Order: sequence, then C-alpha cells, then structure tokens
Amino acid sequence: MMEIQITCKNCGSSIDVLPDHLASKVECDICKHVHEVKFTEEHEQGILKECPVCSRMDFYKQKDFNRKIGVALFVIAAILSIWTYGLSLVVLYLLDLFLFRKLAMVAICYKCGTNFRNIKNMAEIHDFDHEMHDRIVYSDHDFKGKPLSH
Ligand SMILES: [Zn+2]
Ligand SMILES: [Zn+2]
Repeated sequence: MMEIQITCKNCGSSIDVLPDHLASKVECDICKHVHEVKFTEEHEQGILKECPVCSRMDFYKQKDFNRKIGVALFVIAAILSIWTYGLSLVVLYLLDLFLFRKLAMVAICYKCGTNFRNIKNMAEIHDFDHEMHDRIVYSDHDFKGKPLSH
C-alpha cells in the first residue's frame, strides 16, 4: 500500500499516514496540529495523481536513500580508511553505485514536500527539475502534472 509522509506545517515533524478516502484529517503526534487531507480511491490503489495535502499534481522522484544509514556508513568507512589506506571509501563508493542505485524510489510533492512511497505509477513521475521547483515554490505556479518542456 502507498505510504505517505507528511511534513507538519506547524512544527516540521514527519507524520506517517496510509491513504484512506474516509479520512479527511491527519493530526500531528507532536504538536497536535490538524492537517486537511483528501484521499481518493486512486491513492488507496497506490496511484499518485493528486497530492492529498495540497491538491497539486506536480511531483518528482528521487532515490529513497536512508540518510542516517548513509552517514553512519560513511563515518565507518572514513575511520576504516586509516588502516585500509582509503580502500574502504572506494568500497563504499562502489556499494553506493551498485547497491543504492537499485533502491526504491520516493515521489515528492514540489509544493508541500509530502513523500509518497510504494506507489504503482512511479515510472510516470519525473526527476527533480530545478526550474519547476523554483516556479512552484517561489511563484506559486501550478503545472497541473505536466512536466516542463524545453
Ligand atoms: Zn506538528
Ligand atoms: Zn502537496
């Protein structure tokens, strides 16, 4: 099932939710701020067309890389590199290349930053586009799900 991670508008904590078209509100565990959400049956089927938080249709995808694990691995490799003459850093680089490239992807809403994991139509989501990001975030432009054509 699609997993959704909303960033609390009030305190910045992340809130994990599963799509449920009967639910219309999501409360932040930390600050109790209530967010309006609009889930559809499409969301329940794992298809992402419209953001349940801000109703926008513009998303980008990126590697779902666990930052904490990444940082921990780097620290270990850096410490080991004293004895391995840097070899452990090369190993880490290769690991990243072969292992993490195959990791699952996460789709992210340009407008509100909500994360969507485990979605079925990930192939339709485009990579991050700087120009789209700037126009959506700074000029509040709505691309309505159409990627920028150059
Ligand atoms: Zn909060
Ligand atoms: Zn959104």
